[in-house]
Amino acid sequence: MQTVGFIGLGTMGYPMALNLLKAGMSVVVFDVNEEVVSSAIEHGARSCDSVADLSKQSEVIITMLPDVPEVELVMLAEEGVVRNARPGSLLIEMSTIHPDTSKMVWRAAQERGLRFVDAPVCRSSKDAEAGTLLILVGGDKVDLERGLPILEVMGSEIEHCGPVGSGITLKLINNTLVQGIAVALNEALLLSENTGISREALISVCSRTAASNRLLEKAYPAKVFKDDYSLGFALDWAAKDVRHTVSLARSNGLEFELGQLTSRLLEQAQGAGLGRQDAFSLFKHMNRSGQDC
Ligand code: NAD
Repeated sequence: MQTVGFIGLGTMGYPMALNLLKAGMSVVVFDVNEEVVSSAIEHGARSCDSVADLSKQSEVIITMLPDVPEVELVMLAEEGVVRNARPGSLLIEMSTIHPDTSKMVWRAAQERGLRFVDAPVCRSSKDAEAGTLLILVGGDKVDLERGLPILEVMGSEIEHCGPVGSGITLKLINNTLVQGIAVALNEALLLSENTGISREALISVCSRTAASNRLLEKAYPAKVFKDDYSLGFALDWAAKDVRHTVSLARSNGLEFELGQLTSRLLEQAQGAGLGRQDAFSLFKHMNRSGQDC
C-alpha cells in the first residue's frame, strides 16, 4: 500500500487526513502543532520526525497550509518536501495560495523528478469532515488520475481545471466573487434597513430577479440575521484570498476595482479585530462603519 504524507492538520487538513485514515490508507502526518499530530496518531496516523522524514516515507505528499510563506518553507527549504521526496512522488498542494508560488514549487519539483498538482478546495470545514469538498485540480491529467483515489476520499466533486496553476487561479476567482457579492449584499441590506425596507421583503424580491444568490437566500438568514459569526471560514482567509486575486489581476494588466474595494474593506475589518471571526462579520463591520460616518 502506498503511503500518503499529510502536512498541515488544521481546520481543513485534520478532518481531510482523518478521512484518508477512515478509508484504510496508510497516512504519515506532520504539523508544527504537536497536539493535532497526537490526536491524528490516536486515529491511526503514523508520526515522523520532520517534513524531510515524512517526504522520505511517502509516495504522495499533501500540503494543506495557511498561505505562501508556510508553503514556501515546507516545500522549498533544505529540509523541505522538494529536496527530500523520493523521485516520482506526487505532490498535491491543497492550500489557497498565490498561483506564482504553485508554479514555483512545480518547477522546483520537476527539476527533482517529482510530479505536482495544485488542488485547492471549495466549501467548508463541515464538508472537509463529510468528505464532500469540491476540489479544483490544476496539472497533467495523468497526475490527476494518479491522485484521484485519494482526492475522491476527501471530496465529492473533483474538477480538472487545466494545467498547473489553473486550480488555484479558479479558486481565487471564486472566493473573490463570493466576497464581492457579500460586499454588494451588505450595502443593499444597509440601504434597505435605513429606508425602512424589511430583510424579508428584500429577500422576497431579490430572490426572484437576476440579483438572486445563495448568500442572500441561505447563508445570511442562517448566520448574519441571527448575529451568528461563529467561525466557519475565517475573515483572515477571505482577506488573504482577495489580496492574492488583486495581485494576480494586476500582474495580468487588470485593475479589478471590485477586488480592490473588497480587499480594502476586509483589511479594515481585520484592523477592527475581526480577522479570526467568520468572514460574514464583514457585515457587522460595514454596519458599524456606516453608523460612524
Ligand atoms: P488552519 O490555520 O486551521 O490550519 C493550518 C495548519 O497548518 C495548522 O495546523 C498549522 O499548525 C499548520 N502549519 C502552519 N505552518 C506549518 C509548518 N511550517 N509546518 C507544518 N504545519 C504548519 O487553516 P485551515 O482553515 O485549515 O486552512 C488551510 C488552507 O485552506 C488555507 O489556505 C485556507 O485559505 C484554505 N481553505 C480554508 C477553508 C476553511 O473553511 N477553513 C476552506 C477552503 C480553503
